[in-house]
Amino acid sequence: RMERLRARLARSGTMGKALLSILSRGDLTEDDWDEIEETLLGADVGLEASDELMEKLRTETKVRGTTDPGVVREILREQLLALIDPTLDRSLDTVPGIGEDGNHHPATVLVVGVNGTGKTTTIGKLGRVLVAQERSVVLGAADTFRAAAADQLQTWGERVGVDVVRSDIEGADPASVAFEAVAEGRRREADVVLVDTAGRLQNKAGLMDELGKIKRVMEKQAPVREVLLVIDATTGQNAMSQAKVFSEVVGITGIVLTKLDGTAKGGIVINVQRTLGVPVKFVGLGEGADDLAPFDPEGFVDALLS
Ligand code: GDP
Repeated sequence: RMERLRARLARSGTMGKALLSILSRGDLTEDDWDEIEETLLGADVGLEASDELMEKLRTETKVRGTTDPGVVREILREQLLALIDPTLDRSLDTVPGIGEDGNHHPATVLVVGVNGTGKTTTIGKLGRVLVAQERSVVLGAADTFRAAAADQLQTWGERVGVDVVRSDIEGADPASVAFEAVAEGRRREADVVLVDTAGRLQNKAGLMDELGKIKRVMEKQAPVREVLLVIDATTGQNAMSQAKVFSEVVGITGIVLTKLDGTAKGGIVINVQRTLGVPVKFVGLGEGADDLAPFDPEGFVDALLS
């Protein structure tokens, strides 16, 4: 799957390739550096990270004093990788536990993000990954705002062979559905419970109340191990402001960057991680059930530079 991303990035002319070509000119003028900055900003790297990267590139190219494309490529690779930080823990905590009361606690994962970013699809794909690992999974349809949302999750559940806890009452309390989903996970001694939520940004206070309540109520049953924020990579600066709102509302433990198959602007990976201080753990590379990949920093940088 990373291969497919690589092919796409290679076709569409990436930030990495553009930078490589400018840096290989040698004796870079201020115009060249402006061009580098434009390239970085155009790829959604963000101002702060772009400043830092420019600084590092200026120093490193000076220190090594060569325009050999192989060396320039190595410098760029090192610096991009340092920004993405391959040492971050990108695993998903899906190991069930035993509570103080001696009862089984499934690992619970709350999935948040603006509607349309790909939350439901991501949950379906994660379900598929977990089932392939022979883990037992329950899905919770706590997006009760849109009538079709629970149906969509149900369809995914059927597709990947996982049961869905939902409410038949439209507009039911999302927290009570989340509570029921975790309770069901406990009854069945399931390994993992994945909970889908609604993401209406129009009313930040409302969103805060709703997600806060869902999380609190879930914690009455079992600790919430992961809160995954789903972000649409094609929406650039919008995605960044959404990310900030969600991270203020609820503590995020990992990012899923969806629709990376639809953009060559890979810089958003750097920007979003830096802004939120949490790693990108998965990337969405298409609409199908198998189109989710663990984020691989080395593979990603190589794709940018290929
Ligand atoms: P939600 O409202 O956040 O639950 O978003 P959905 O899961 O309903 O997804 C919204 C749309 O984005 C759907 O048409 C999905 O098929 C599509 N989608 C989700 N993830 C990806 C992805 O990684 N790549 C592409 N190309 N489309 C995606």
